[in-house]
This record gives sequence, structure tokens and C-alpha cells, in this order.
Amino acid sequence: MNTEFSFHELKAADRLPSPSGLALAIMRLVQREDATVKKLTDLVKADPALTARILSFANSAAFGARRPVAAIQDAVIMMGMQAVRNFALGLSIVSRQRNEHCSGFDYGVYWAQALALAVAVAAVTGRERTVAPEESFTLGLLSDIGRLALATAWSDAYSECLRASQGGDLMQLERERFAVDHNELTLILLLDWGLPSLLLDSLKLSFESPTGESSRIVRFAQQLAFSRRIARFCVADDSYRAVLLPDLRQDAVLHALEGESFDRFLDEICKQWQEWGKLIDIETDVRMVFPVSRHDPFEALPGLELLLVDDDPMMLARLSKQLASAGHRVSTCRDGESALKLIIENKPQLVITDWRMKPMDGLTLCKTLRGSDLGKNLYLIMLTASESEDALVEAFDAGIDDYVIKPVSLKVLLARVRAGQRILMLQQELEKEKKDIERYSAELAVVNRRLELMANTDILTGLPNRRYALNRLEQEWDSAQRYGRPLSVLMLDLDYFKSINDNLGHDAGDVVLAHAANLLKANARTSDIACRLGGEEFLVIAPNTDAKAALLLAERIRSSIQTEQPKDLALPRPMTVSIGVAGSLGGKPRWNELIKLADQALYKIKAEGRNAVRLASQ
Ligand code: GH3
Ligand code: MG
Ligand code: MG
Repeated sequence: MNTEFSFHELKAADRLPSPSGLALAIMRLVQREDATVKKLTDLVKADPALTARILSFANSAAFGARRPVAAIQDAVIMMGMQAVRNFALGLSIVSRQRNEHCSGFDYGVYWAQALALAVAVAAVTGRERTVAPEESFTLGLLSDIGRLALATAWSDAYSECLRASQGGDLMQLERERFAVDHNELTLILLLDWGLPSLLLDSLKLSFESPTGESSRIVRFAQQLAFSRRIARFCVADDSYRAVLLPDLRQDAVLHALEGESFDRFLDEICKQWQEWGKLIDIETDVRMVFPVSRHDPFEALPGLELLLVDDDPMMLARLSKQLASAGHRVSTCRDGESALKLIIENKPQLVITDWRMKPMDGLTLCKTLRGSDLGKNLYLIMLTASESEDALVEAFDAGIDDYVIKPVSLKVLLARVRAGQRILMLQQELEKEKKDIERYSAELAVVNRRLELMANTDILTGLPNRRYALNRLEQEWDSAQRYGRPLSVLMLDLDYFKSINDNLGHDAGDVVLAHAANLLKANARTSDIACRLGGEEFLVIAPNTDAKAALLLAERIRSSIQTEQPKDLALPRPMTVSIGVAGSLGGKPRWNELIKLADQALYKIKAEGRNAVRLASQ
């Protein structure tokens, strides 16, 4: 068993997937300060296959179907040097790793799934811009490379590991055998190949359940996790697909994909996946079947990993033979100390121990186990010669789950083992449920954020709504008074708006409202908060702005609305707006007073004629 994982040794021994010479040269060039598009293009041209792939990549629909790119230099400029570098790296790994020595490792499914993930994550990030699709594609392609690396570096041991883990915890086994699991190894390799840390942080998070603040890293991690499900769907056979689809649909809702739009999205990904497969020689006609777990509750209880501890060799031989013929995998030892060692190495699920042994007896063994993380979930059965109450109480205090009186009746022992087994399975289910709950609450958090956004947004204009405006104004007022800063508000009302509805209909009215809102967004500064209060009334909150500056801002908005009339509408009269302005300094007047003052100023303009701005008199 490995106790320490040495990446550098493996790398030096050339036992890991590695980039081609050309990809290495490209990676080196891009790192240099004097790297230019011209130099990079020249290098790429040295490999016609790479050139062709970069061109189809630049032209592929996932990246927004921009104008067609014919020259490799344009493709390089469009993708960016870093993306070209990563892309070349990804492809070189794909084309070099074709030796298939690890039996039990399905290379076909592996590559097909890696490609599906690349295509899916490029499509997802193309919709929800977090990371450029050119970048996410390569990350997707390589995001499971640790698996391949394990299969390459230790093909025999890994194939054994895959067999042993059927339906169980593969990563746990990997850590025991190789002191590293495939996800860790993926991250190590990608870091070594120089992929950007933003991508790696997200990838790492996507292996867990990506929750937390809605930062770019978290959102990209969620997109990766979603894409991984899509990729699994791609490689599944029809009946497995039917199992996967409901969860996938649910996941898709969180990425604003529902019903038909999701179906179209999924179809498009499958299509692109197959096209890409042809282009880079990856077989996409693979069909993964539903993986059947060993722990099917309807089947007979599966055998356990079991440790038997007794200092009597005869007893040990007899019981272990009988337990093994009942389907358990039994290891044995003759005292408490060697039991501890074996438990650390083999991690059995259930331990049957004699009481009286030397040097360490069964009672001490139980106490020691219960005091450590390792022994918390172990099921412990004690073999005892006496049934005295005191002795039993002592044994339960030491942490045993059950006991069997000697001489041991095999029937009773097997019944007790089965009872223990049910408890172990319940524990596993609870563990899984806990994980599910964590996942659901992560999903819920996303839904809640979306609901919150919806509750605060006006649908017609996309501006924050009245509810948001008033809350925000109160907040801004708070901080203005705390820091002794000025704060102004602009109250806007479109002039004679009703006549637009009356003459051209409500839809035309809506177009004018959206148009005015766009002008408002364009003319407000980034620190200003433009909101729609309702109807044809808007509010602009201008933090850190005194009345004089606010008046200028108001005039700029008024004049832009007058100048830039909506096209294609024969309005009864030009669109104009009246704007009342009010300012406060260091919290005076209060925020609700401020709105009232701006409203009064607005009212005066309406009375005097409209299409003007006016500062409130206090
Ligand atoms: P004034 O110059 O005095 O502001 O006159 P006005 O016609 O703009 O003001 P009034 O408040 O009388 O009319 C506002 C109209 O806005 C009334 C209502 O039909 C219309 N309205 C309110 N909300 C919407 C909407 O979402 N879409 C459309 N198209 N019209 C709306
Ligand atoms: Mg009005
Ligand atoms: Mg009006």
C-alpha cells in the first residue's frame, strides 16, 4: 500500500498522461513575454490537424456563430492566445493517450464522456457568460483526466481497484491504494499544465456540491456540475437515459432551461458532440448501461468486510470458515493490537472480538476504537464466556453493539451479524440522505436567489421595481447620513403618456416605456440606481451627489429623451419627460421626505407646462 503520493516521481518516470512536443512548445511560447500572435500562428501551422481543429473550433456554433473565420491567424486572435494554448494542450492529450492497458477501465466511455462534457460546458457557458466557452471547452475535456492518469500509471492495480469498488466508494479505495484520488490527481495535473486558477477553483468546487455566495467561481462550478450530468446522459443507453432525465431536467431549470428549450439545447449538444467526435477521432457511439449497485435492498444482504479477533487458533479457523461460507469476506488476527493495525489497513465494517486476549484484550480494543474516528461507525460484536450482568454492562460501556455467549452457536452469531448489517446499511442510507439534503438546500438557495431577483425586477423594462427602489433608497440614505455625504433623487414622469396608449394602443405604450427605460440606463452613471416606480414613473437614486450635480444629471436625461425619439412609431406628440429633483445632505431631510419634495417639484413642472427639470425648494 502507498502511504505517500509522489507526483514528481510519477511524472519523472513518464507514467502520466503528457502533452505532445508541439503542445509543450506552444505552452512555453505563450508563457514568454515576447509571445505574439504571429509566432503562435507559425507554431500551430506546423501541425495541419491542429490547424484544422482550431479553425472548426473558432467557427463552431457554440461560440455564438460569429462571422466565418478562414485564416488561422484570425482564429487565433479571436480565441485568444491562452485559449489556443489550452486547446492545443487538450487535443494533444486526447491524441496521445491511446494505449489501453487497464482492463476494466472503459476507455471508449471515458473519452466519449470527456468530449460530451467539453461540448456541454462550452454550450452552457456560451449562454450564461461566466467563462469564455473557448476556455471552458478544454477544462471540460480534461476535467476527469485523473481517472485516465490512474489507469495509465498503475494499470493493473487500478483495474483491481475498479473491480473491488463495484457500487462502492471508488475514491476511498483510490486513496487507500494510491494515496490520491482521481479528482485530486486531475487538479494536480491541470495545475502542472498551467490552467488558470479560476478554472481550477471552480472545478474543485464542482466535485463537491457547489454552494455559497453567487460568485463567478460558484456559478461556473454549478455549470460544470450541470454539464457533467449532461455528459453522463450523452453516453448512457436509452434505459439509463430515462433514469437520468428527470434529475437532469430539474437541474436545467436552475440554468433557465425548461421544457422545449431544454430539449432543443440537449439535442444541439448531442449533435455537436457527434460532430466533434468525428473531427478529433473520438467514438461517440458508446452506450453505458445503468450501473447496478451491490446494495440493492431487494436482493439478499451482501457479504460484509469482517474482522475476527480471537487468541484461540482453532476457534479462529472454525468461525472464519463458517462466516466466509455465509458470504462474508473475513480477515483474522489473534490479539487487540494487531486488530488495530488491520482495521486501519482494511477498514472492515464489522468486528467480532474475543474478550480475554493478550497483550491487548477485547475490551481495550473496543474502547480504543470508539475513541477514534476510524471506529465510530464500526459494528462491534463481543464474544464472552460469562453472562454476568456486571460484565455485560462493562462491555456495553466500552462501546460494543452486541455480544454472543461462548461456546458460539453459529446460527446465533450469523443472526447477530445480519442485525448488525441492517444497522450498517441504515447508517449508509442516512449518510446518503444527508448528502442529498445538502444538495437540495444548495439548489434551493439558487432558486431563492432567482425568486428574489424576480421579486425586485420590473419585467417590462428590466429595471429594479418600486419595492426595490424604496428599500434601496432607505439604505443609501442610511449610509449618506452616517458618512455625512450628499444624496439626491430624481422623480421622472413621462408627459402626456396616456395619449400614446389612447392613440396607438397599449403595446405601443409599452414600447415607449422600454425605450425610455433604456435611455435612462444609458444616461445614468454607474453609481446611480434607476428604477421604475410604476406606470410611466421612474426614480433615479443618486448617491454621493449634491442637488446641483443631480440637476445636471436630470437635464442630461431630459434632453436625451427629447432627442432620441422611439423609431417606427407615429407618436401623437414627441416623447418628453418632466423631472423633479431633491437633494439631502448628511441625512437631512429624511428619505421619505426627499421623495415627497421631488414629487412636489415634478407637480409644479406639470402645472407650468412639462418637459423640464426643477429643483425642489425646501
Ligand atoms: P402627464 O403628462 O400629466 O403625466 O399625463 P400622463 O398621460 O402621462 O399621465 P397619467 O397619469 O394621466 O397617465 C398615465 C398612463 O400610463 C395611464 C395608464 O394607462 C398608463 N400606464 C400605466 N402603466 C402602463 C404600462 O405598463 N403600459 C402602458 N402601455 N401604459 C401604462
Ligand atoms: Mg403619472
Ligand atoms: Mg405622465
